[in-house]
Amino acid sequence: MTSPMRVLSIPMRTRFRGITTREVVLVEGAAGWGEWSPFVEYDAAEAAPWLACAREAAAGDWPAALRTSIPVNVTVPAVGPEQAHSIVRAGGCRTAKVKVAEPGQTLADDVARVEAVRDALGPGGAVRVDANGGWSVDDAVTAVRALDRAAGGLEYVEQPVASVEDLALVRRRVDVRVAADESIRRAADPYRVRDLQAADVAVLKVQPLGGVRACLRIAEDIGLPVVVSSALETSVGIAAGLALAAALPELPFACGLATVQLLTDDVALAPLLPVDGVLPVGVPRLDPAALDRLAAAADRVAWWESRYEEVTR
Ligand SMILES: [Mg+2]
Repeated sequence: MTSPMRVLSIPMRTRFRGITTREVVLVEGAAGWGEWSPFVEYDAAEAAPWLACAREAAAGDWPAALRTSIPVNVTVPAVGPEQAHSIVRAGGCRTAKVKVAEPGQTLADDVARVEAVRDALGPGGAVRVDANGGWSVDDAVTAVRALDRAAGGLEYVEQPVASVEDLALVRRRVDVRVAADESIRRAADPYRVRDLQAADVAVLKVQPLGGVRACLRIAEDIGLPVVVSSALETSVGIAAGLALAAALPELPFACGLATVQLLTDDVALAPLLPVDGVLPVGVPRLDPAALDRLAAAADRVAWWESRYEEVTR
C-alpha cells in the first residue's frame, strides 16, 4: 500500500555528486505535492527526514511567509577566469558562490577565478567561496587570506575543511566568516557546530533536516544566520527551501536555491529560475505533461515504492 506518488527521472546538465540522472518522487497530500528526493545510496533511516519534508509540503503545513521573494546566488564551478566571468554576467545575481580547492588545481587558479568574479559582479556584489572541505587547516588559512584579498572582501568561506573540529580551528585564525555546509547533514549537527563555535553561518537544507518547521526551530535554537540551500531538487522541492527562507526572522545572505537549471527539465509550469537575482515565494503549479514526460521506468518505480514502505514501516 503506497500513498499517491509519482516517480520521475530527470537527466542532469552535467555530472554532479557522481550522478547524471536525478530521481525524484512527488508525494501527494491534502494540499498538493511535496518532493521526496533522498539520494539513492541513502538507507531508509537517512531518507526518513526527507519524507517528513515532502509530507509537510503536501499537507500545506508551512509557517507564515515574512517575505515574497528570496535573493539567490549564482554558482561558479571550478572553471577558468573567462568562463567564470561570463557565468556571473549571465546569472543576473548580486551574489556569487565560487567553487575553490578543486583537486588538481592550485591556489593561483582559485585567485584568478575569484578576481574574475569580482570584476563581473562589480563592487556592490557579494563573493563567497566554497571549498567543499578540500583544504587542510593550514592551507585553508593561507587560501582564505589570499582569496579575501582577491575578492576585495569575501562574504564568507563555506566548509573550508572537512571536520567540525577543524572548522573551529580555521575560524579562530581567519577574519572571514566561516559557513558550515557538509558539517550539517543530520538534525543534531547544527547544535554541534554551535557548541564548538565552529561557524558564523549555518547552511540548512530542508529535506535532510526534516522540513521547513524543523529547520525554523533549528535556526532559532542555534542563533546563527542561516543560508538556505538546495539538495538538487525540482521546483517542488525548491519551493520548500523558499518557504523556509521566507519564514526566517532574519535573512542576511542570499540563498543557494538557484539550482533548477542544473536539471535538463522541471515539473513546474513556471520553473523556479532566478529573475534579477531573486526567486518568488509560493507553491509552484505542476505541469501534467512533465509528469508523463519524466516518468521513471517501471523497475525504478518499484524500487522507490519499496523504499517508501521501508521508510514508513
Ligand atoms: Mg557547499
